Amino acid sequence: MNDRSNPPVALLEQLRAIVGERGLLTEAEDLAPFTVDWRGQFRGRAALLVKPASTEETAQVVAALATAGVGIVPQAGNTSLCGASVPDASGTQAVVNVSRMNRVRAIDLDNDTITVEAGCILADLQRVAEENDRLFPLSLAAEGSCEVGGNISTNAGGTQVLRYGNMREQVLGLEVVLPDGRVWDGLRGLRKDNTGYDLKHLFIGAEGTLGIVTAAVLKLYPRPRAIATALVAVPDPAAAVALLGRLRAACGERVTGFELVSRACLDLVFRNIPGNRDPLPRPFAWYVLVELFDSMAGPALAEMLEAALGEAAESGLADDAVVASSQAQRLALWALRENISDAQKTEGVSVKHDVSVPVSQVPRLIAESDLALQAAFPGIRTVAFGHVGDGNLHYNAFPPRARRATSSPGRHR
Ligand SMILES: Cc1cc2nc3c(=O)[nH]c(=O)nc-3n(C[C@H](O)[C@H](O)[C@H](O)COP(=O)(O)OP(=O)(O)OC[C@H]3O[C@@H](n4cnc5c(N)ncnc54)[C@H](O)[C@@H]3O)c2cc1C
Repeated sequence: MNDRSNPPVALLEQLRAIVGERGLLTEAEDLAPFTVDWRGQFRGRAALLVKPASTEETAQVVAALATAGVGIVPQAGNTSLCGASVPDASGTQAVVNVSRMNRVRAIDLDNDTITVEAGCILADLQRVAEENDRLFPLSLAAEGSCEVGGNISTNAGGTQVLRYGNMREQVLGLEVVLPDGRVWDGLRGLRKDNTGYDLKHLFIGAEGTLGIVTAAVLKLYPRPRAIATALVAVPDPAAAVALLGRLRAACGERVTGFELVSRACLDLVFRNIPGNRDPLPRPFAWYVLVELFDSMAGPALAEMLEAALGEAAESGLADDAVVASSQAQRLALWALRENISDAQKTEGVSVKHDVSVPVSQVPRLIAESDLALQAAFPGIRTVAFGHVGDGNLHYNAFPPRARRATSSPGRHR
């Protein structure tokens, strides 16, 4: 664009003709919610925002913007935690938001697939799967607002990667609008496809750099008939890794979630998010939230988990545990884990890391990072939690609590 912040009138007219009045935003106050990220850490400015309602509209919008030389920031639910979904500060970029494309195009229960548009909210997709007696396994704390296009473009993980894999593993086919406005139609639901290069994988995890994902064919799974969930206090992260091995030996592929949570995380949640309480009688330094799924019904799953945890306790791998005895208790245990991100947001600014290492190296990662950070920044508060079953950890650092500017320098606020 020549005039950095004012898109040419002809371009605006062209876009309005494609997406209609409600599909084009240009006023600063309308653009504001789409130019700041979920954490409020990254604020940009956009020249305009377009909300196409179909693949055809997206293709025409992208072609028009490309011809005009306007940079495009694809956006779905805008829950990205690293500023990737918002424009830069130049005021010259156009946000292309896919949220209006939120239809379920087809469900094929014999093929166990669902075809959805990129703006479909993850929780809605999960609900439609459940209504059809199926499971869509991607599950993460942002599921009420993140959308399929964003999940695909970030190759999102969540809490069930251990059993079902990342978003990449769920994608059988994709439809993408390329940077010049052509549509790449790879919307196939083939379970076996060995016809040469598998181009869809280029777009998964590409964060919108290669095109705008408009629809996908995704895998569905049998809905679990039994679920057993426990919060287990463990002596340290090494015990957590050993416990994972024990549980897999005892319960096999039923181990679906295995989330490490430090006491610092729970304290953040108790301090900042009302309605959460400690389910164990006394505090421990480390916990894991364990969940088993079984496609067979029956109470045996909880007994299996209790027996495995009992053996782990005898070996010193577990200090205490609570097994959920109702869906309400299960949700309360998960709330402790899922509220950690919100609790951190309320607590204040932190430096966030999303680190993957081999599962066996998780204890070393935590121990060595803690030591190095304390040496460099005495008093720094570190918060470690995450998908230890995948070797993927959120490792975040808060500044030391501010010291009082009084005569008692040893006391903290
Ligand atoms: C509380 C919370 C918990 C989270 N937990 C996890 C977690 O456990 N695991 C995990 O992996 N992530 C997690 N995330 C981050 C996660 O990546 C996002 O929540 C989600 O996958 C992004 O989806 P979105 O629709 O919000 O995408 P956006 O934030 O809108 O976009 C994300 C990226 O994808 C691009 N993009 C968006 N739509 C398209 C499209 N249609 N075509 C091409 N590119 C596009 C954007 O340009 C941007 O680069 C969490 C976020 C929050 C807020």
